[in-house]
Amino acid sequence: MCGIYLDYQSACPVDPRVQEFAGRFLGRDFGNPSALHSRGLAAKAALEEARAHVAELINAEGQQSVILTTGATQANNLAIRGAALRNAAKGKKLLASKIEHISVLNPMKDLKKGGFDLTLVPVDRTGVIDLVALEGELGQETILTSVMYANSEIGTVQPIKEVSEIVHEKGLLLHVDATAAAGKIPIDVQKDGIDLLTLSSNDLYGPQGAGALYVRPGVRIQPVLFGGGQERGLSSGTENLYALAGFGEAARLARLKRAEEGLRLQAIRDALIQEILKIDESYLTGHPTKRLPHHASFRFSRIEGESILLTMDAMFNIQVSTGSACSSRTLEPSHVLLAIGLKHEEAHGSMVITLGRENNSDQIPVIANAAKKTVERLRALSPL
Ligand code: PMP
Repeated sequence: MCGIYLDYQSACPVDPRVQEFAGRFLGRDFGNPSALHSRGLAAKAALEEARAHVAELINAEGQQSVILTTGATQANNLAIRGAALRNAAKGKKLLASKIEHISVLNPMKDLKKGGFDLTLVPVDRTGVIDLVALEGELGQETILTSVMYANSEIGTVQPIKEVSEIVHEKGLLLHVDATAAAGKIPIDVQKDGIDLLTLSSNDLYGPQGAGALYVRPGVRIQPVLFGGGQERGLSSGTENLYALAGFGEAARLARLKRAEEGLRLQAIRDALIQEILKIDESYLTGHPTKRLPHHASFRFSRIEGESILLTMDAMFNIQVSTGSACSSRTLEPSHVLLAIGLKHEEAHGSMVITLGRENNSDQIPVIANAAKKTVERLRALSPL
């Protein structure tokens, strides 16, 4: 399928070098990392190599601080349920920004049903967390605060170091979902002062079905899955060796390529923003500068995001996203767009472009023209 793919935030192709490296674990080099024979030991060694690369990507203290998981959703659930249940005796209060991914908000809402308190901290019109409100909400009974590194829907990057200083000044625990940010902007868990950090393999061009939770040495969390006790008891179940070995290789490549690729995509992104904002009644969503380098998100008045997505796909063979990159099937207005102050009808007209390896500057006029024609066509048909 050719065309122009602009939805890297929801799925990335697996890098051919990763496929080649990890493919052998599907066949010739298969093995269960818990087995004590030579095949098991070789599988374990491959897993440890992957863990080391993931640790290096985020400058973790050591590879033992990285818990390998089946993806970002499992890592977020483990961080939130694991920290809340472990610390329930100290307090019941959970904090999160209003624009967290549903894999952070939903486990928190579930804990709320079980007697925890949940407070959602507001963001400004560009999606940046309100640090004064955050500080005001934190108290000794706050057992976990979760603020994402960057938002996948509006691209805004949060001032994580400042968030961490505020949280740590009170001696409290910070979880950061870095699914959208890793491999795009530098992340250093030690400098940033992060206690728990979520990563996803596919966002780094690794296989789907793999991710990690970084747990700062000394931080204690409780398991949420029970079974064979793999991953220090925090992620039971036989490891997906292919996906995790591929994740490690993808993390290694991301560390080497991130800066250069970020600059390349940022130039394309800036030109696209400039062109698309020439369309009547079009607006950028998220922060104009503090945003992920590959990310451009817009809203257009009087039309629906779903129609934009379908028209761009059917008429121009260009794949974009609308609303939440991971749950575009819901017709509810996005909680992120509502949180930045958009009205329901405004939140419905969004288009999200996330660039990646296959994009180049020759595509800029093609994409801009397709967006313009799409908006004009839909407005001509719109009863609004
Ligand atoms: N967090 C963020 C910020 C996301 O964008 C996503 C979706 N890519 C997730 C968590 C969940 O990822 P997954 O569905 O791969 O588990």
